[in-house]
Amino acid sequence: MTPEVLARSLTRWFQKSRRDLPWRAVDPSTGQRKPYHALVSEFMLQQTQVARVLEFFPVFLQRFPTVESLAQARDEHVLAAWAGLGYYRRARLLHAAARTIVGEFSGRIPDDPETLRQLPGVGAYTAGAMASIVFGARVPAVDGNVVRVLLRVHGRAGAADDPRSLRFVHARASELVAVARHPGVVNEGLMELGATVCTPANPRCGACPWAAGCIARRDERTRDIPRPKRSPRVTGLVLRCAVVTDARGRVLLERAPAGALWAGLWRLPTAEMTPRRLAAALGLAGVSLRRAGRARATLSHRQVELRLWRGHAANPTACRAEDRRWFDLAALRRAGVSSAHRQALAGLLDAEPKKRPRRAPGPRSRQ
Ligand code: SF4
Repeated sequence: MTPEVLARSLTRWFQKSRRDLPWRAVDPSTGQRKPYHALVSEFMLQQTQVARVLEFFPVFLQRFPTVESLAQARDEHVLAAWAGLGYYRRARLLHAAARTIVGEFSGRIPDDPETLRQLPGVGAYTAGAMASIVFGARVPAVDGNVVRVLLRVHGRAGAADDPRSLRFVHARASELVAVARHPGVVNEGLMELGATVCTPANPRCGACPWAAGCIARRDERTRDIPRPKRSPRVTGLVLRCAVVTDARGRVLLERAPAGALWAGLWRLPTAEMTPRRLAAALGLAGVSLRRAGRARATLSHRQVELRLWRGHAANPTACRAEDRRWFDLAALRRAGVSSAHRQALAGLLDAEPKKRPRRAPGPRSRQ
């Protein structure tokens, strides 16, 4: 099939089958997508499923409705709004991008891919997606879905991350946007086709607008194209964490330092090594710690096990340190705590035996 035929059939299919997603809403005053919404969604969608982003996107926008409000926000408030979505580096880069947009572009998101790429966290894919989908630029936007679809339709063998495959796909995607009436629609249609029809396992070729000309389908090679990537080695990490409460039921948290896991977020006081005297190593001298179970977290290439130790601080001020703070339950809900630590806390605090209310003296209830 020629690029013209591919672009036309894909455009028709996308206009009929596209999912109704909040970041696809058009601003009636401009007739365009809202650039700031597109920027936030592109950062959130990196390595994250649409269903998950749908939970976080409206809440984040409610908290930071404009690029200016995001640029002016404190780091910890941005991380708190991102907490639970994972890959926190994206939140920091989005925040930095908002500051650059306000500081250097008077709050206007650039419309050309070269300038977009100067923003922190914006690579070739995000710049291409923003420039074409929001501003109509004739540039490709190649993500993992696009690579898979184009390798299959052209029957091109090779791994998806092989530089030769990527060069091939980039050339095919560039041909499509060169002939498309709406380059952004073709780019988004390609991503949508990969996400909903030409999926990694069991593509639904019967529902595909390109089925008639697809070489992988014709040759029954959809399982072999693209060639599976070698899975990255997953390493394990064991951390010891203290869940310390005081007489008012507050929990002690520390801010994870730069370079550590969950940097900038609040977490339980944590040690990586196996200290013989855990409380002293954590700066919690005077708190007696007992084992209290485990929690597990899966990060991109790491399985993290949190070994939990429970303790009570009779003297909360003695546990204070720079970057440590006591949180009551209301403050804990608002704080930017990593999901692994939040999960560990929920398990332990819920399991805490509740004090039984004292029964008022009176007649015994009937059994
Ligand atoms: Fe993918 Fe099947 Fe469509 Fe080919 S026909 S592009 S393999 S969904």
